[in-house]
Amino acid sequence: MPKVLIIGANGQIGSELTFKLKDIYGTENVVATDINFNNLDVVNSGVFEIVDAQDYNSVRTCVEKHQIDTIYLMAAMLSATGEKYPMRAWDLNMNSLFHVLNLAKEGFIKHVFWPSSIAVFGPTTPTVDTPQYTIMEPTTVYGITKQVGERWCEYYHKKYGVDVRSLRYPGIISWKTMPGGGTTDYAVEIYHQAILKKQYQCFLSEDTRLPMMFMDDAIDATISLMQAPSEHIKIRSSYNLAAISFTPKEISEAIKKHIPDFKISYKPDFRQQIADSWPKSIDDTSARTDWNWNHKFDIEKMTTEIITQLRKKYQDSEINS
Ligand code: NAD
Repeated sequence: MPKVLIIGANGQIGSELTFKLKDIYGTENVVATDINFNNLDVVNSGVFEIVDAQDYNSVRTCVEKHQIDTIYLMAAMLSATGEKYPMRAWDLNMNSLFHVLNLAKEGFIKHVFWPSSIAVFGPTTPTVDTPQYTIMEPTTVYGITKQVGERWCEYYHKKYGVDVRSLRYPGIISWKTMPGGGTTDYAVEIYHQAILKKQYQCFLSEDTRLPMMFMDDAIDATISLMQAPSEHIKIRSSYNLAAISFTPKEISEAIKKHIPDFKISYKPDFRQQIADSWPKSIDDTSARTDWNWNHKFDIEKMTTEIITQLRKKYQDSEINS
């Protein structure tokens, strides 16, 4: 059994990853950590500790205390927030990665998962079916940290033999935990507002097409990548990963099949410029070939699942209040 540490376990992806890894490896083999106690479901689900990803000693102490061999580094500052605090985004995203890579280099841990993002691409990248290897000139500080991070991952693998694996996540859509300040957050908010208010004002324009993925697929991809035999992992920077691509208008049409009087309006803000610099769809042939990646959720199946779950969630909270 691996002994797993999740850093940033309270976040949108970290929280669901924590629960899934506990299902697979047992609660006693998964240590959840974050810089705050903001997600009580995670905090109360087993071993939970406060760890600051920017503090090498804080991470190392936790690794030694629990004899950790695998780290999933999910702490980061995301694209929209990163544009407000560029230096804080740089510090968090780079320092945390170096601490974890160095712990692996020094032999404290054996395996690392670190997520990259479609934000590594920029306005000069081909936008349709963006290839694995292509022009990458990101224009956000977040994208710059992810691109540089990818280079360091590959470097640590080649130079020091570190087993680091990575995925370029598209926008991740979930219903359990709210997203943490990204440009694709609208695709989560829209479902909550559709159920609560039957209307939503979108911060991107109606025809902004972006690559997206349902959370269950993202968690599946992450765990499949980490469980794949080392010789199957041919890319040590980060794998392109894709599932669905849609516009705000298309997702609103899918929602209307369940909530016919749902109304969407559009008021693009600074996030439009970020979205315009990203691909519309991604070619993830390498992931599908190397370690058999396959997504399960299309836009209709995802929408049915999210609306069913959110209706239940909000009904339950009404009953309990
Ligand atoms: P999130 O913002 O929801 O969660 C990040 C977590 O990190 C939060 O719980 C936060 O409290 C924690 N954190 C912040 N600073 C910390 C520190 N110094 N020490 C420890 N913890 C700290 O982010 P997410 O959406 O879950 O993203 C997880 C990873 O996936 C990130 O690397 C992100 O860049 C990447 N990613 C996410 C998406 C997406 O759509 N959510 C898309 C592409 C890539």
